[in-house]
Amino acid sequence: MLARMRLRGWQRNHKSLLGHPDVVFEQERVVIFIDGCFWHGCPTCRRKLPKTNREYWERKLGRNVNLARSYNRSLRRNGWTVIRIWEHEMRTLKLREKIRTRILKALGRITSDSG
Ligand SMILES: [Zn+2]
Repeated sequence: MLARMRLRGWQRNHKSLLGHPDVVFEQERVVIFIDGCFWHGCPTCRRKLPKTNREYWERKLGRNVNLARSYNRSLRRNGWTVIRIWEHEMRTLKLREKIRTRILKALGRITSDSG
């Protein structure tokens, strides 16, 4: 995924960080989470919940969303820039280019008016 985006300096699955971000740019203190559209209740994809155990699934997904928010808050308090990407955004080239720009901006490798 990110390997194809011609970005340098990242590490995968940094276990010591809160929430286990998918990608970490340690030097620039930028973390990236790729959120599964189902597991994080993506408003674009609106994946249907399984018909059985509806309540269980609603609670579970709700918990994922809350956890993600609390991770964002703690990481930001500790000086990290947090980027969250939806799984579906990785699927098309156009969206991937957008993500790449977002990441480069966060890394300070491009300024907002050049992107
Ligand atoms: Zn989605």
